[in-house]
This record gives sequence, structure tokens and C-alpha cells, in this order.
Amino acid sequence: MTPPHRTTARTLVVLALVALTTGSAAARTLPDASQAKVPRLVFPVVGKAVYFDDFGAPRGQGGHQGNDIMTTWRSPAVAAEAGTVKFHTTSARAGCMLYLHGKSGTTYLYIHLNNDRTKKNDNTGKCVAGTAYWKGLKNGARVEAGQPIGYNGNSGDADQAGYHLHFEVHPGDGAAVSPFRYLRKARKLLFAVQPGADFTAALRGSVVRADAVERSLTLMVDRVQSWPGGLRVTDVKRQVRLAVPPDAVITDPLGVLIASAQLAALEQGQSAIAWTARAQGTLAAALGVPLTLTAERLELLR
Ligand SMILES: [Zn+2]
Repeated sequence: MTPPHRTTARTLVVLALVALTTGSAAARTLPDASQAKVPRLVFPVVGKAVYFDDFGAPRGQGGHQGNDIMTTWRSPAVAAEAGTVKFHTTSARAGCMLYLHGKSGTTYLYIHLNNDRTKKNDNTGKCVAGTAYWKGLKNGARVEAGQPIGYNGNSGDADQAGYHLHFEVHPGDGAAVSPFRYLRKARKLLFAVQPGADFTAALRGSVVRADAVERSLTLMVDRVQSWPGGLRVTDVKRQVRLAVPPDAVITDPLGVLIASAQLAALEQGQSAIAWTARAQGTLAAALGVPLTLTAERLELLR
């Protein structure tokens, strides 16, 4: 009795799977923006970022089409996912603007990029690379997720508002949806790095844990400065686990060398700066993925 019944059930399952497969294949031929998947994003702003869900809030010409991420002058704007950038320089309201056509089919809008040459909100800069768009970035360039693409500012009708990135998410290149839930889940960069280019960084914070066996140090980081560029990021408030090789130089608050073997003796809460070894820029390093950053020098502070 049982075997024939099983066979029938199996056949039904197979038929159901065939139906499902056919269904999704049919759906693929008819693009539907509402069905487009937005991948997990890289947070589009590096450094200070304050935002809430102001999508749909009343604005002069209808509902607000994105979220405004309040930040500091010239903080880096980075690619939320891999894709192609397109500069847009002729909108009086948007000011210096950029489209990122993501690989997933989602389009992202970056609005109010920087147009100032000084901190005095002079509006004398143009919507060009080095001012609004990242130095060296070409219109139409392919970019990787997390690659720096612009400098945040207050161009266009944001001129009297604080520095912020107006960020929009258009799944399937269709209508805008609220970016809020994607921003909440997004991965935040510790600092901006050009993929493939050498960088160094200084991470300042306090010791959480030192592991002499793994040769690692976990810092509660509050500030980061990175080179080239010397860009500073404050309000980091994140734990980062760095590799500390045996030849790393460790100095006490008086500048006296400490034996590298004493790593385990570092006290929790001790203030320190970790200077990273020169390395090639990768998304993992910029994200601060555990052990992707190597401290070549560790400076203990008072
Ligand atoms: Zn806005």
C-alpha cells in the first residue's frame, strides 16, 4: 500500500516544482519593478550619518522620494552596490547629482553632492570630479561596492540646509521606495579606500581584548584617519579586531618600546592608536572585517 502512495506524492511534488519553475521563468520575461530584489547595501555615507525615515514627507513638489542622511562637509559618498555611475549636472533642485545603476537592476540617486570650494558654503565649485564626484572618477565608470564616488555637500535646493546626502532607491529602475530598511541593514565602512590602491589608516580607541595566541587586538574604535587624503571619520563607535604580527612596534605612553610578547598584558580600557601596515584597498578592509587590517605600530596613550 505504502510504496504506490509515496510514488504518487513524489510525482505531485515533481509536478509542483515544474509549475513553480515555469512560473518564475515566465515572470522573468515580464520585468516588474516591485519584484526586483535590492541586495544588502554598503551604507552610502562614510562617517557621521544621522537619518530617519522621511520618505514620503511633504515637500514643495509632492512627497519626498528618498531619505536625507545628515553628515559633514565632504564626507565620502560610496557605491551602495557594484554598478555604473552617471553624472547629472543640470538640475537646479538636485544640484550635483549622480545615478548609480546597480548590478541588481536597482538604481540609486545621490543628490546634493558638494559644490563648495571652502567650508564657507561658497557654491563656487562645479559638478566635476574632485569637487562633487570622487577625484579621478569618470562619468560612466564601473564601480565596485563601497568604492568612493562622491563628496557630500549641500548643492541645489539644499543650499540653506545642513550638509546631507539625499539618497533614493529605485528597485528595477522603477518607482522610488523608502531606502530606510535598506539603510538600517547596510554594512558601514570604517573609512573610504580606492579598490586596489594602497592605503594606511590610524584607528584610535580603547583596548577591548588582546589575544597573544591569535596575535590580535580588539579595539573599540572612535576615530579613524586614512591615507591617501588624510580623511578623518569620527563617531565610529565600533569594535575592530586587528592582526598584530610579532614584529609590530608597541610603545607605552612615554614612547618607550614594549616587547611585542607583552601584547597579552595590555589592559582593557587602555587608550591606543593602531597604525596599519600599508596594504591594498579592499572592501573587506574598508568594512573592518576581523583580521583584515594589520597593525604595524601600536601606540599606547595616557
Ligand atoms: Zn531629500
